[in-house]
Amino acid sequence: MSDTQQIERTLVLVKPDGVARGLTGEVLRRIEAKGYRLVALELRQLDRETASRHYAEHEGKPFFEPLLEFITSGPIVAAVVEGQRVIEGFRSIAGATDPTVAAPGSIRGDLARDWGKKVIENIVHGSDSPESAEREIAIYFPSL
Ligand code: ADP
Ligand code: MG
Repeated sequence: MSDTQQIERTLVLVKPDGVARGLTGEVLRRIEAKGYRLVALELRQLDRETASRHYAEHEGKPFFEPLLEFITSGPIVAAVVEGQRVIEGFRSIAGATDPTVAAPGSIRGDLARDWGKKVIENIVHGSDSPESAEREIAIYFPSL
């Protein structure tokens, strides 16, 4: 084994709730303060087709339609973030999917809660594996 860990990239989204609540800077601050590096960053409006491509793994689930509605409801910020073990590291910074039980100290644990909606609004997305990261980065930043 080599003594240097492979540098990874992950796709991070600040979802429409995060952008609308003015939390983009707070999310990016936490990423940079942790020591990860931003390599791409864009404010954009998702269309339904791109949103379905991103969330294809959830097709057929009861929250799929509400998720598409939510993620296309307003601007998002898409970022590619780089660093050793950043895929796992950002998931840890983000916290558990359900913000009610996400650990305090995490983005979701500190900044999100249950609003009683059909879809969980939890401020951020982060890729969950190297395969997902590669697939998702290609959706948002095909030139990378
Ligand atoms: P994560 O974003 O933590 O990787 P998933 O990939 O399981 O979580 O789900 C994608 C997104 O779909 C979640 O971030 C959340 O916004 C929404 N979601 C997931 N599970 C549910 C659920 N049971 N009910 C409502 N919305 C959900
Ligand atoms: Mg996921």
